[in-house]
Amino acid sequence: MESFAEHYGAMYQTVNRCMPGVDMTLIDKAVEYAQDKHKHQKRKDGSPYIIHPLAVAEIVAEMGLDVDAILGALLHDCIEDTDASHDDIARLFGNTTAELVEGVTKLTRANFASSEEQQMENLRKMFMAMSKDIRVVLIKIADRLHNMRTMQYQTPAKQISKCRETMDIYAPLAHRLGMQKIKWELEDIALRYLDPASYENITAYLQAHKEQDEAFMHTIQDRITQRLSAMGIHNTTYGRIKHVYSIYRKMNLQDKTIDELYDIYAFRVIVDTIPNCYNVLGHIHDLFNLVPGRFKDYISTPKPNMYQSLHTTVIGSQGIPFEVQIRTWDMHHTAEYGIAAHWKYKQGSGDGNEKDFEWVRRLLESQQDTDAEDYVSSLKIDMFDDEVFVFTPKGKIVSLPAGSTPIDFAYAIHSGVGNALVGAKVNNRICNIDTPLENGDIVEIITSKSAKGPSRDWLNICQSNQARTKIKQWFKKEKREENVLHGRSSFEAEMRRLTLPLPGQMDSELEQQLLKKLSFDNWDDMYAAIGYGGLTATKAVGRIRDDIHRATKAHTTDKSANPLKLTPEEVRQNRHAVNGVIVEDIESCMIKFSKCCTPVPGDAIVGFITKGFGVSVHRADCPNTRHRDDPRQSARWVRVRWATQDEQPFDTTLELDCITRDGLLLDVATAMTTARVRVKELSGKDLPGGRSVFTVRFEVKNVGELEAIRTRLLNIRDVTGSRRGQN
Ligand code: MN
Repeated sequence: MESFAEHYGAMYQTVNRCMPGVDMTLIDKAVEYAQDKHKHQKRKDGSPYIIHPLAVAEIVAEMGLDVDAILGALLHDCIEDTDASHDDIARLFGNTTAELVEGVTKLTRANFASSEEQQMENLRKMFMAMSKDIRVVLIKIADRLHNMRTMQYQTPAKQISKCRETMDIYAPLAHRLGMQKIKWELEDIALRYLDPASYENITAYLQAHKEQDEAFMHTIQDRITQRLSAMGIHNTTYGRIKHVYSIYRKMNLQDKTIDELYDIYAFRVIVDTIPNCYNVLGHIHDLFNLVPGRFKDYISTPKPNMYQSLHTTVIGSQGIPFEVQIRTWDMHHTAEYGIAAHWKYKQGSGDGNEKDFEWVRRLLESQQDTDAEDYVSSLKIDMFDDEVFVFTPKGKIVSLPAGSTPIDFAYAIHSGVGNALVGAKVNNRICNIDTPLENGDIVEIITSKSAKGPSRDWLNICQSNQARTKIKQWFKKEKREENVLHGRSSFEAEMRRLTLPLPGQMDSELEQQLLKKLSFDNWDDMYAAIGYGGLTATKAVGRIRDDIHRATKAHTTDKSANPLKLTPEEVRQNRHAVNGVIVEDIESCMIKFSKCCTPVPGDAIVGFITKGFGVSVHRADCPNTRHRDDPRQSARWVRVRWATQDEQPFDTTLELDCITRDGLLLDVATAMTTARVRVKELSGKDLPGGRSVFTVRFEVKNVGELEAIRTRLLNIRDVTGSRRGQN
């Protein structure tokens, strides 16, 4: 059993050593608060629970983090294990501390244990994505380190799962964050439980050779320090045996027994300046025989996790190879505490949190870890804005596009699950199936055999292509009849909106031509495609619209043809507007636009009932309308007006008066193209006296657009005037 006093004392000393002169008031208040909150809890060994937060706070202080992080560490289990709330903590210890505790709590609730190798990268990503503040990660690593140190009190099953998780998540994270010391300790403890036999073998071997090893290390150490001191280089030099897990891994990678291993000894020479690092290197190579190809200069090229040192491997007089790492104290501190060391450093300089974060991001982003032995999949902290990581109830992790819903989740599991989806639970609470999921959510899909299958709305709700594709597939397969109906109604609505004739109302040759253009054998197939979402009605209509216009126009100019008759049903649904024009008092009639004055929306217009071609629409100022008062014809003139908001383009013609010059036609064409106008016809005619007339027929939506284009054309050099087309 460990005592409160012991741990409090250790924490107190470390805090004071790492943060000299810090005000302990708030820290003591947090200790008291945590002690009170955890008072009924015991650690597995029977010690009072408070020991754990104290130990975690001590590790966090040792890392060099700030007061907020220490408070966070002291309170890190309060929300999870006691009745303390985020608000309580915020009120007593500030918002930052509360956020840190909340962050750690989220990580604690998430289950990062996973047996699948390919999930590891996702797990680590999720871990970082959930953390937001790097201090949350560091507190959580400290939490895990203390739990690993006290692992002997756990059940064997728990030991295995926690140690796996440590190997999969925490040790690589510590490595990525440059915290070698913690990484080694985590790995060694984990190995002890995961492969006890090997762990025993290695430690027993090291134990048996301890004296011999120490003697060897002393000899080498003495030779180095003597030489350096003689040269006046101030240094701290010591030898060590590489850590157990690193030996274990070398044995496995190189398939060797421990005494066949190349280098298990490492020496460190720590000096004051970078030039001295290179000086020392020279002396080392002078004292011992260099092993070729093993020198690495991580000072000029730091590792992605900011590690810096010179590495070289040499062979001593006994023929035993060993590695020498040469670094400055700054580099040493970074090597031991990584990001935390940097974090502390930054703090003094008053840099904002964001800058730190930027640094972390850069660190995590760098993919190139040239040292194969140090290979760990790279991690990025806020590069995951576009991804969300959630769990199945069994703890399998699922990565989805950001904004994904339980629908996406269900289809990510299996299309059968998606198709049988009737509801969802997120973190054990029933919620809407369109609820956006958040990192770390545990998602459970409620299915039913009597589910009716996906709803079409889901296509708009889901975020993942996977879900969308599977939903479309379902509709395609399961619901042809419904698809045909559904597709037909949206297709027809779109056709009516553009006042186009519907299938069945056009002659069959034209319909065949349209179907061919759409690549369907018959209309039902196309309706079905629209119905299940493989094609949109707008797209389909857009593809055939011009063909219909062309065909019907040809039709109307053909004197022998009958006007297109609208069906009564169509008339009902489309009471007034035909080709964008409303003819008062007449519901169903053909509309055509007169060629003499090419009216466009916005123009004042009048209609004339032609013999057999419906109503012909003229501009009110068209010379051809001057006989309106003629009693023989007055009954045939009707009032017409533009329907509102019809986007349908109209043909119109402008005539341009110009001074003849080369390239003018091209200038006009360019102006039209730049204005994104669809030109139907552009021709020029030279007149005597060095003048020309250009006629341009083009599409506009309304008179405003027409005037804008006219202004543009008049701005062209040598265009002197314009008029609306008159025949
Ligand atoms: Mn804890």
